Amino acid sequence: MGEGGTRSATNDRNSLSAAPASSVVDVNTSTLTLNNGIEIPAIGYGVFQTPPEQTIAAVTAALEAGYRHIDTAAAYGNEREVGEAIRRVGLARDELFLETKIWISDYGYDETLHAFDKSAGKLGVEQIDLLILHQALPGAFDRTIAAYRALEQLYADGKVRAIGVSNFMPRHLDRFLAETAVVPAVNQIEVHPYFRQSELLAYDEQRGILNQAWSPIGGITFYRDGSHGSTLQDPVIGDIAAAHDKTPAQVMLRWHLQQGRQAIPKSVTPSRIAENLDIFDFVLSSEQLAGIDALDTGVRGGPEPEDITLEAFGRQIPEA
Ligand code: NDP
Repeated sequence: MGEGGTRSATNDRNSLSAAPASSVVDVNTSTLTLNNGIEIPAIGYGVFQTPPEQTIAAVTAALEAGYRHIDTAAAYGNEREVGEAIRRVGLARDELFLETKIWISDYGYDETLHAFDKSAGKLGVEQIDLLILHQALPGAFDRTIAAYRALEQLYADGKVRAIGVSNFMPRHLDRFLAETAVVPAVNQIEVHPYFRQSELLAYDEQRGILNQAWSPIGGITFYRDGSHGSTLQDPVIGDIAAAHDKTPAQVMLRWHLQQGRQAIPKSVTPSRIAENLDIFDFVLSSEQLAGIDALDTGVRGGPEPEDITLEAFGRQIPEA
């Protein structure tokens, strides 16, 4: 993966390196460039809700299929297994883009510096490519800012190559941009055809913050009880898929790609893992993109960002 930005701890990234395994496919998935010049694959691989005992096999399948970006989180409880899969597959460290998230219980300057040590230790790396705050804590925003200042320090020290946020709304970002120095490289947010968050997407774009779509194929519309049905069963998406001889999941991922978002689909199923990366050989028309945009219900599947509190969502993140 190419690099345009500064990288002060280059050698650390090779600490996992071994000869590339011959079974690993080299797929050009195309890349996006973060606001500090670092490149990130346009399609990554998410592991939320992947149980630790399935994570090594799932991440191995993803790497062998050609994914080069893994998105995990301290709160997912599977960072250790993500690291183990990476070591087993044997890709050079600089062929991989590793992203993880600090959980709210570890917010605060010193706490967040230590949270980096926990995540890096579990992943078995010295440098993390992208480290983000998992949620804003609206009722403890000073602590959220202190956590981000720790990310800025880790960035200055070369321990992370880029920093960002997740589930931040414009009012949170307004304060961040006023009170912190480094513009977040990404905002990882819920975006799928039934919840597009158009205003937030535009806000981020205008400020050079890359939108990373979570639940990009609408997982949250079908793995949780939703009121608006499953994106996978949507007739508009189904018709577009049939027209291109593609699947609904592929159409949704292509929609993100063509609109400039990064997407991180999750699957533990090898055929779907491969399917979700096979989106580089067709193009949606502007009418088709607009047709998918029009499916937006405005109804969020995930928790309301304003409702995130330590009392309701806090939990201890184990040591490495
Ligand atoms: P996705 O939109 O990726 O959907 C995942 C679901 O879709 C799983 O049930 C999976 O099943 C199924 N699936 C995957 N591919 C296909 C396919 N081609 N056809 C049919 N079904 C398919 O939702 P997620 O919520 O998992 O989001 C993806 C990632 O985003 C997470 O893993 C995580 O990294 C991140 N995320 C971040 C959040 C945040 O707050 N920052 C919140 C939620 C997610 P199966 O695995 O059984 O194949």
